[in-house]
Amino acid sequence: MLPAIFFGHGNPMNALAENAYTQAWRKIGIETERPGAILCISAHWYVPGTGVTISTAPRTIHDFGGFPRELYQVRYPAPGDPELARRVQQLLAPLAVSLDGSWGLDHGTWSVLCHVYPDADIPVVQLSIDESKPAAFHFDIGRRIAPLREEGVLIVGSGNLVHNLHTYAWGRHAPDPYDWAIQFEDRAKGLMLAEEVRPLIEYETLGREALLSIPTPDHYLPLLYVLGARQRGEPITFPVAGVDGGSISMLSVQAG
Ligand code: ZN
Repeated sequence: MLPAIFFGHGNPMNALAENAYTQAWRKIGIETERPGAILCISAHWYVPGTGVTISTAPRTIHDFGGFPRELYQVRYPAPGDPELARRVQQLLAPLAVSLDGSWGLDHGTWSVLCHVYPDADIPVVQLSIDESKPAAFHFDIGRRIAPLREEGVLIVGSGNLVHNLHTYAWGRHAPDPYDWAIQFEDRAKGLMLAEEVRPLIEYETLGREALLSIPTPDHYLPLLYVLGARQRGEPITFPVAGVDGGSISMLSVQAG
């Protein structure tokens, strides 16, 4: 059975970088049993409704502004997998899941996968995050797609456990992480290790540190899909760690 992995993707420039995060991502790709396909839940496909990409050749989407030209030239030409898209639709029935021909691979997906699987030869399907639904809905979707792990599919969530761009130090000398960022990350790790899921779903009740770490749900929710796909009693590890710019947790969370 393949693992389910949440990646903290952070700054889109990681796509072009060679640093401790990208090296750790590459190592994950080498050490993980090679999947037949990847299902990715990215913070950057946060829309009204649940959909899966159906294209056989998903386009690389440069969904950001103000970055250097070379970042817009990055392509991640992995094929799609319409059969997997339909399998997801089937697993989530009777929930309406649209087969989406317009979205492709956004930078939440390709800025990480270009390091994990640099050859771009494993088919990738993206599953959208329905912005109108509560956190428990997303955890439940994770549970329902869990059988894919036994079908050669690597479930990937891409976001950031702590993601506060108001306090992020763009381009400045690397500052120390904020206390609240460290405190929330530690608390979340403890809850994951103890398999206490409910407080992680009801994260809004976890106080000031949680509110500062998760000012909007988009980058946090992909983690709930991975935790939903975790089997009871399954070990959890954190193969990548670090806080970028003071307020972006680069923590990766691996189930299995
Ligand atoms: Zn992002």
